[in-house]
Amino acid sequence: GEGLPRPEQTRVMVVANQKGGVGKTTSTVNLAASLALHGARVLVIDLDPQGNASTALGIDHHSEVPSIYDVLVESRPLSEVVQPVPDIEGLFCAPATIDLAGAEIELVSLVARESRLQRAIQAYEQPLDYILIDCPPSLGLLTVNAMVAGAEVLIPIQCEYYALEGLGQLLRNVDLVRGHLNPDLHVSTILLTMYDGRTRLASQVADEVRSHFSREVLRTSIPRSVRISEAPSYGQTVLTYDPGSSGSLSYLEAAREIALRGVGVRYDPQHAHTGS
Ligand code: ADP
Ligand code: MG
Repeated sequence: GEGLPRPEQTRVMVVANQKGGVGKTTSTVNLAASLALHGARVLVIDLDPQGNASTALGIDHHSEVPSIYDVLVESRPLSEVVQPVPDIEGLFCAPATIDLAGAEIELVSLVARESRLQRAIQAYEQPLDYILIDCPPSLGLLTVNAMVAGAEVLIPIQCEYYALEGLGQLLRNVDLVRGHLNPDLHVSTILLTMYDGRTRLASQVADEVRSHFSREVLRTSIPRSVRISEAPSYGQTVLTYDPGSSGSLSYLEAAREIALRGVGVRYDPQHAHTGS
């Protein structure tokens, strides 16, 4: 794919929002695929017991498959659970199985319960440009593990009623983790998802988010698109399912923006349809 500047160090991005259905998983897999298609080496860590990111990437995650549960709870090396994603060079996935549903409780009694993912990532020797962590819709120990492992939080926001509800709680949690466990943690990126520029509500919400978080919000927003929502049932990202669709182009553009920001290069929009 088209080359983009690569980060000097692996960028670990925690995709979090304790609200369900805002586009965390969709954005994780499609941004990861986009970054890989731009030439980066990318690992998706599925940290949601539902395993939706694994499914969307076409990765087997039935209960016998070595998974991120084994890494967190059994201290299994990350390299033993990572699988290559079919059809997209440079893209890898550490799948989640349903076992992970118990991990939130099992972790409580383990040593270094908040930093088990961080340790696993530090011991992983394959070179990577990005790690994207798909978090569950809660602020429990799984999400805390992600926030200890990464420096960057990426918050997808759906341009709907109550979009900002709960955001304060998420930001307070980021502050808590930064204060106690990970001084590098910060919200680097906010992505507006399921954006429908024809409705006044969506543009009002987008304006409100942009006025609060002018630095963090990507200029590229993701349109509501049936092709995006169809792709996971084929075990595909929209990038391979329908490469020319507006959803696909907007995720490629958002990924380009993320990559350029990471190396401090000014971003100029290339596609008029992405709603910026
Ligand atoms: P989360 O991981 O935050 O719970 P998902 O990524 O699973 O959210 O998205 C919730 C639902 O919305 C899914 O059914 C998904 O297919 C759909 N969806 C996400 N983004 C879009 C979009 N841009 N256009 C249309 N449907 C979308
Ligand atoms: Mg999800």
